[in-house]
Amino acid sequence: MSAQQPYSFFQSVERSFNKAAKFTKWEQGILEQIKACNSVYQMRFPVKRDNGTIEVIEAYRVQHSQHKSPCKGGIRFSDEVNQDEVMALASLMTYKCAIVNVPFGGGKGGIKINPKNYSVYELEKITRRYTSELVKKNFIGPGIDVPAPDYGTGEREMSWIVDTYSSLKPGEIDAAGCVTGKPVSQGGVRGRKGATGLGVFYGIREVCMMEDVMKKLGLSTGVKNKTVVVQGLGNVGYHSSKYFREGGAKVIALAEYEGAIMNPDGLNEEEVFQHRKTTGSILNFPGATNLANSSDALELECDILIPAALENVINGENAPRVKAKIVGEAANGPCTPEADEVFLKKGILCVPDMYLNAGGVTVSYFEWLKNLSHVRYGRLEKRFAENQNTELLQQIETLTGKTVNEKERKFILQGPDEIDLVQSGLEESMITATREIMAVWNSNPEIPDMRTAAYVSAINKVATSYAELGIFP
Ligand code: GLU
Repeated sequence: MSAQQPYSFFQSVERSFNKAAKFTKWEQGILEQIKACNSVYQMRFPVKRDNGTIEVIEAYRVQHSQHKSPCKGGIRFSDEVNQDEVMALASLMTYKCAIVNVPFGGGKGGIKINPKNYSVYELEKITRRYTSELVKKNFIGPGIDVPAPDYGTGEREMSWIVDTYSSLKPGEIDAAGCVTGKPVSQGGVRGRKGATGLGVFYGIREVCMMEDVMKKLGLSTGVKNKTVVVQGLGNVGYHSSKYFREGGAKVIALAEYEGAIMNPDGLNEEEVFQHRKTTGSILNFPGATNLANSSDALELECDILIPAALENVINGENAPRVKAKIVGEAANGPCTPEADEVFLKKGILCVPDMYLNAGGVTVSYFEWLKNLSHVRYGRLEKRFAENQNTELLQQIETLTGKTVNEKERKFILQGPDEIDLVQSGLEESMITATREIMAVWNSNPEIPDMRTAAYVSAINKVATSYAELGIFP
C-alpha cells in the first residue's frame, strides 16, 4: 500500500472481481468461495550463508483454488514478496487458467530474497530447502500443486525443484510433473521459455485483427508497423519484443531499472540485451536516445505499451500521461484500478494480464501433459505425417503436371516437431480466449472494459465448475 494506492494488491484483485461479479448470475456464497484463497502456507527456514552466518528466510505458497487439480503458478524471488502479494498472484492464476481453458486451480509461491544478493550455491540451498518444506506439508506434486518460474526464477531453479522432489519421492513415476518451466533435458517442453512473450504477441495480434476495436482506437488493423514500447527486458519483455519485431511491429523503446532507451526506427532486443550484458546498463545503446527515468518510457507516444516487469507501475498518478492506444499487460497487475478508470475516460484499451500473459501457464500445461504421458510431442506422428504429405504432394504434382518450389516443398512435407505443436497449441488457446472475452464484452454494453469482461468469463467458468462438482447444488 502507498499514498497513491490506498489498498493492497490482493484488495485490488478483489475490487476487479467484485466489479465483474455484478455482471454474473451467481449467488454471493459462490462468489465468496471463488474469491477466497483456500490455503496459505507461510514458512521460515534457516540458510547458512557462504560467509558462515545464518539467515532466516521468509517464504510462501498459496493455493487459491482447488476447483480443478493440481494448483498451478510460479514461484518468485523478490525483496517485495509478502503474503498479500502471493495471495493476489495466486488468485490471478485461477482466473488466468480458467480464461485459457487450462484445467488447473490457481497457486503462487514466493521467497523474500533479492537473488542478486546470493551466490548460486546459496540460491540452490534456499530453493532445495523451500521444496522440501513444500513436500513436508504436501504442498507440491503433479496432482497437488505444480510450481513454475516467475519473477526472479527460471529453468535453473526448476531443475533444483524437480531434483529435490524426485529424490524425496523415489519411484514416483510422474515426479517430473511436479514443476514446469524445466530445461528440456530435465523434462521441460520446447517453447516454454518464450511462451509468455509469444502469448502476449498472439493476444495483441488477435485484438489488432478486430476491425471494430481498431476503428474505435483510430488504428489500422494488424500489428504490422505499429509502434511498441516495452518496459522490462527480462524473459517476458525480451520475448514480447522479439515476437512483435518479427511480426512487423517497431519496438521504439525499451526500459529497465537503470533507465530507458528510444529509437524511432526500432530496436533489436537481442542487440540491446547483449549491450546490457557487456556494459551493465541498457543506457548508451548505439543509435538510441537515453531517457532520464525508466518510467518515462511508459509515457511515450506509441500504439502499444507493454509493461512486462512488476505490479502497480501504472497508477492513478501517471496513467493520465499514458499516450499509448493499447496497453498490453504482460506483467501481473501492472495497472491499478485507478489506472483502469483513467484508461476508460481516455479511450485507451487495456488488455488485461490474467488473459494476456497466460501463454506461460498454457505451455506449462503442455509440459505437464508431456510429463504425464512420458513422450515427446511429435514423436508418434511426425514421420507418419511426412510420409502422408509426400504421397499427397506427389499425387497432386502428377495430376496437375506442376511442381512446387523447394521452399514450399519443405514446408508442405514436414511433419510436426514439438515446438510446432506447442506454438500452434498456444496460438489456438490465445485466439480462442480473445474471442471468448470479446463475446462476453459485446454481450453486455454495461461491461465497462476488457478486464471486467475477462473476469466475467473466468468467474462463469469457475462457478460452473463448482456447480458441476456438485458443491453448490
Ligand atoms: N509465473 C507464470 C505466470 O504468472 C507462469 C505460471 C505457470 O506456468 O504455472 O503466469
